[in-house]
Amino acid sequence: MSGGIFQPNGGWIEVIAGVMFSGKSEELIRRVRRSLIARKRVQVFKSHLDDRYSGVHAVGSHDGRTIEALPVDSSQQVALRLDPLAQVVAIDEVQFLDRGIVPLVKDLALRGRRVILAGTDTDFRGEPFGPMPDLLCTAEVVDKLHAICVRCGAPATHNQRLIDGKPARYDSPVVMVGGADAYEARCRACHRVDAATDAQGQLL
Ligand code: ADP
Ligand code: ZN
Repeated sequence: MSGGIFQPNGGWIEVIAGVMFSGKSEELIRRVRRSLIARKRVQVFKSHLDDRYSGVHAVGSHDGRTIEALPVDSSQQVALRLDPLAQVVAIDEVQFLDRGIVPLVKDLALRGRRVILAGTDTDFRGEPFGPMPDLLCTAEVVDKLHAICVRCGAPATHNQRLIDGKPARYDSPVVMVGGADAYEARCRACHRVDAATDAQGQLL
């Protein structure tokens, strides 16, 4: 669907948002593959913080499909590694990048590039994640995908974080690199965040 309503030479920004396991990487890979079939020059980046499945040089989806990608962990690295001739620029796991990514992708779109961004729009608390709100506002096309709630089978819209099998506390860090946390897709009703408590166990 995305892209069809635009002039072939005009730039624009597409955001594929949604929870983990909702198929954002699958959808980004699908759009990139179609751009390659259309003989476009395509450049794919992905945030360093997520190196599941195939190491840092590929975008991997939970169903095992991959495409090659350049690892980055800041908007500055995207700027430095940009191929000036790329017609399509795709970034997976964009929620982990700093807010400098917003002016950068706007500029790319102004200069005629098709920009495809995939990222989870809310963190484990259900709150906006990094640059996602600004990216969603500035995009011409937004798709919000759902996963399946592992508890009840409803459409899942929330990232459930579990630490040692229990819902994470509200005040645990948004990103625990190398941490022993796990994530599940859940619907709003099944989503749990433990209240933050002080050292004495009092609610904060
Ligand atoms: P995302 O990039 O949004 O995390 P992926 O594209 O990597 O998603 O993976 C989507 C795939 O994950 C689905 O096609 C399906 O095979 C698998 N999957 C695993 N758990 C779930 C779930 N709870 N709901 C939907 N899909 C799931
Ligand atoms: Zn549910």
